[in-house]
Amino acid sequence: MKLINATGKKSAILLIYTGGTIGMKEDPSVQALKPFNFSQILEEVPELGKFAYRIDSYTFDPLIDSSDVEPSLWLALAGLIEERYNDYDGFVILHGTDTMAYSASVLSFMIEGLTKPVIFTGSQLPIGAPRTDGKENLISSVEIAAAKDAEGHAIVPEVCIYFDTVLMRGNRATKINSDNFRAFRSPNCPPLAEAGIHIKYNSGIIRKPEDWDAEPVFHTSLDTRVSILKMHPGITPQIVRTIICSQDTRAVIIETYGAGNAPSKEWFISTVREASGMGKILLNVTQCPAGSVNMDIYATGKGLKEAGVTNGYDSTTESALGKLFHLLGLYAENDKVKTSLEIDLRGEISK
Ligand code: ASP
Repeated sequence: MKLINATGKKSAILLIYTGGTIGMKEDPSVQALKPFNFSQILEEVPELGKFAYRIDSYTFDPLIDSSDVEPSLWLALAGLIEERYNDYDGFVILHGTDTMAYSASVLSFMIEGLTKPVIFTGSQLPIGAPRTDGKENLISSVEIAAAKDAEGHAIVPEVCIYFDTVLMRGNRATKINSDNFRAFRSPNCPPLAEAGIHIKYNSGIIRKPEDWDAEPVFHTSLDTRVSILKMHPGITPQIVRTIICSQDTRAVIIETYGAGNAPSKEWFISTVREASGMGKILLNVTQCPAGSVNMDIYATGKGLKEAGVTNGYDSTTESALGKLFHLLGLYAENDKVKTSLEIDLRGEISK
């Protein structure tokens, strides 16, 4: 174990640039924002040079708008972190905001037993813009990624999203605003830290590894045969059937109303039973921005439970998707996936 701060050694941070608005510039030929070379980001943020840390960077090629994120990027990110794990004290990932909550969620499941911070950040305005939010986001993320306690352990050994002065658990955050600097929210989990004059860590809820000296396990098998059914009044039996009984899916996230409720009509419940009988994993997540699923309160929720639907508790949809991709990749047996869905693996659900 390296006692970097305690021995006075410099912390080392790896800054990983995947794309997103933070590094974009207007391309006059198409009159739209496009990613540009990373070396210019460091030129735009000379403040980083004031830290006593070693900051190395790694740039993905091609740089992407995060709407183009594919599981291959998550595998590449996990592979890079695994390969460089012992060379750095923390990792900062610059990523577009649009799908940042998906990427942070899935990475949190792909890395088990994390002992170092992995902080996702980005911005709403490009870093070269006069009123950019990118500088503060980047500078504070680097500081958090390097932060150690008196014993030399990372203060936040979790996959997180840092945005607009708030550090959130990655698998709890969701993008809630497309043009405000406060772009993310973590409705069911308090902030892990808040940055004012000082960065105040909420140490009571920050997860710690069981063994600081153990190497994390990197899970690199993802199975993406998951679909999402968002309930809405007027949805037709054909549409529900097409989504939940498809041969191409192993699991379906059902975004239900309120505390996990769905129509009590016979056609709906019997279609859910049919999908369940086909062995599909059906996970109940609420469409409410905050709060939890409880399938014992209303008859409409009880019907789903009896039809074999699994409780997603207070999971975000992004987190449920990442957890399913990971668990389906890990287990060939759907029963094992269902059992693990009910367990809080990385702080993603409150039970
Ligand atoms: N479209 C951009 C992206 O997600 C938006 C952003 O970075 O804020 O890559």
